[in-house]
Amino acid sequence: MLLRSRWVLPITAPPIEDGAVLINNGTIHWVGRWTDLPTVFQHSHIDLGNAILSPGFVNAHCHLEYTHFAGQLSKPKDFVSWIESILALKSQSTPESGVAAWYQGYRQLLETGTTLVADMVSVPEVWSLRRSGIPQPLGPRIRSFFEATGVLHGLSPETLLESLAQRLQENRPDSTNDPNNAIEAWPEFGVAPHSPYATLPAFLKALAQRARRDQWPLSMHLAESATEFQRFTQGSGPLYDWLKRFRPLEETAHQSPVQYVAALGMLIPQMLAAHVNYLATGDAETLGNAQVNVVHCPRSHAYFNHQAFPIESLTKAGVSVCLGTDSLASIEVEGIEPPRLSMQAELQCFLSKNPSIPPSYALKLATLHGAHAMGCPSGELRAGMWADLIITPLHSPCVDPIEAVIHHQGPVSGTIIRGEWLQVDEPPPPPRPSTDQCPHVSSSLQ
Ligand SMILES: [Zn+2]
Repeated sequence: MLLRSRWVLPITAPPIEDGAVLINNGTIHWVGRWTDLPTVFQHSHIDLGNAILSPGFVNAHCHLEYTHFAGQLSKPKDFVSWIESILALKSQSTPESGVAAWYQGYRQLLETGTTLVADMVSVPEVWSLRRSGIPQPLGPRIRSFFEATGVLHGLSPETLLESLAQRLQENRPDSTNDPNNAIEAWPEFGVAPHSPYATLPAFLKALAQRARRDQWPLSMHLAESATEFQRFTQGSGPLYDWLKRFRPLEETAHQSPVQYVAALGMLIPQMLAAHVNYLATGDAETLGNAQVNVVHCPRSHAYFNHQAFPIESLTKAGVSVCLGTDSLASIEVEGIEPPRLSMQAELQCFLSKNPSIPPSYALKLATLHGAHAMGCPSGELRAGMWADLIITPLHSPCVDPIEAVIHHQGPVSGTIIRGEWLQVDEPPPPPRPSTDQCPHVSSSLQ
């Protein structure tokens, strides 16, 4: 398939005006200016007109099964009250509603241009659905992380680990005969120990050893709130008092959450650490040295009024920062409509809170960094990468294409995953003007 578009955004190279992308067998074969297309590749093509062709978004932290909680929780007075509220909501939710919510969220991600997602799963029925294999191509590629706490059920670390190992093994879909999956030698399943405070240290220690041995992908909420930071550094505060109601707490070692999990061996390269808002001195370097990826969820961060996300110190320490949506249970309602899962909305929120960050760099966090964090050849348009692309209409020919992708509202006008069209819900964009030149448009990516 050969696509021609007014703009092509490779992400790792400057935007290309009047660009072309050649896709062959689910991967990108060639990217460049239309006029530079080698004659050997010139054949029938699809002209996307006045549109922007870019890699799909990578949502590195999400809970699709909570999509039906959108707008259900008003802004909490503190983090612990939010935990209590969502636990109450979960206790009223049925497995059927969790599965329906999962599909609803999956559809929202597809509509808004996410092509790869790290999804946390705690509803067993959702896990079974994933393990038995959803029909493909249906939507974004998914890595599902089974969420574990092990605190309330009193399971021993060994029993809990064995049950996780079984979950990772059971009903594995057979993709060996599927040519679409032949290039996907990447794990679709992993484990998410919920957080340092909702798990026991013996479990985290045993899990870390097992994950290193068997190369289990890991994801964890880490250093999310001020009260979590206080629970570990001081052994006091609202979260500490709340946790004490459920179990005896180990003696506080006066470590930060990052130091605590590092001492247990949990900081495994490629781990997705969600949030990481509260750091002690040296924590950023610890994460950087361990090659942990940090996932910032801008709208969730704003909802809880956390202190400023430490992007500068993390980046300086060599930590790769990517972006995620988190769940709709921690996103504020604006207007009368409940919020929807949208990486564009996350990018807009992120840039409004971090105005000094160039939009081109922000877009990199939402594509390339997430793909690297999940070990996928994706998140950029380059020969050899997965052909996972989105099409964003360009309503005005003189708008910066990067700004247009970030500030687009509503569904994208097309999504291609594994080199196949998944959705063209909107009318095609207007024809591409042949001679317009917009010299002010950004021509470099940072
Ligand atoms: Zn989360």
